[in-house]
Amino acid sequence: MSIRVAIAGPRGKMGAEAVHTVMKHAKMELVAVLDYKEVGHTLADLEMFPASYTAPIFTDMHELVEATAPDVLVDLTNPHAVYQHTKEALNLNVRPVIGTTGFTDAQLEELSALANEKELGCIIAPNFAIGAILMMKFAKEAAKYLPDVEIIEMHHDQKLDAPSGTGVKTAQMIQEVRAQKMQGHPEEKETIEGARGADFDGMRIHSVRLPGLVAHQQVLFGGDGQLLTIRHDSLNRNSFMSGVAFCVEEVMKMDQLVYGLENII
Ligand code: NAP
Repeated sequence: MSIRVAIAGPRGKMGAEAVHTVMKHAKMELVAVLDYKEVGHTLADLEMFPASYTAPIFTDMHELVEATAPDVLVDLTNPHAVYQHTKEALNLNVRPVIGTTGFTDAQLEELSALANEKELGCIIAPNFAIGAILMMKFAKEAAKYLPDVEIIEMHHDQKLDAPSGTGVKTAQMIQEVRAQKMQGHPEEKETIEGARGADFDGMRIHSVRLPGLVAHQQVLFGGDGQLLTIRHDSLNRNSFMSGVAFCVEEVMKMDQLVYGLENII
């Protein structure tokens, strides 16, 4: 039986790719999409999709679920909408697969408790690209031996949140193995605010935003007389789609929230 999938944010750069991915997938059926404004009755009404894409467009999650009974909601919207979408989906017994970034720790804790209570799978993946997951795993390993680290994440200039979900997730994974330490000179002073980047447990995260970039990250380690750089580049949004499809299948087997793809691959 195919997995019934709904996608929130179908007109977006990631959402549109996810629509094509689910439409092409032999084991999935795109039953509906969620938008926040009236943009047409079905995807076929949008110029960006072919006439054969007949999934209905809803602006209300309750109506969407009642009419189309999805198993999974894939959310690729924005940091303002995603928390509410995830909560509503869980309350309506739909399993969320969330690619949207920008959750607070308190929101993640609350959603984790809700998924546990409902015994429903929920995957929140700040990065669906396998290479990015490996970059984070290798960075965690390297930090055991080289604890001085700076993260430079680089994204297109339409991105709303900074630092990126991947940058924060990388820092969290490094924090698990690294004793807390302040880096740089103890008396260093910023002559322009923000020059040293964001402080995460003594590590610095720098966010670059430029047109032309997609999603890129370098993790830089410094030691006596040596440097190690681990770098990943997503050159287009196809790099994320095998991860989206993998999560849609995996979430059906789960009964709790998982934050980060590295915990399930
Ligand atoms: P985007 O092109 O701006 O797409 C977001 C889409 O969501 C837009 O079409 C937007 O409509 C729509 N939207 C906004 N509020 C909505 C709501 N309440 N309900 C339904 N749709 C809504 O952004 P993107 O580049 O596709 O990225 C989307 C999210 O995925 C971002 O959080 C980004 O950081 C994240 N991301 C994750 C990964 C990953 O691997 N996990 C990779 C890349 C990006 P309007 O344009 O009309 O506002």
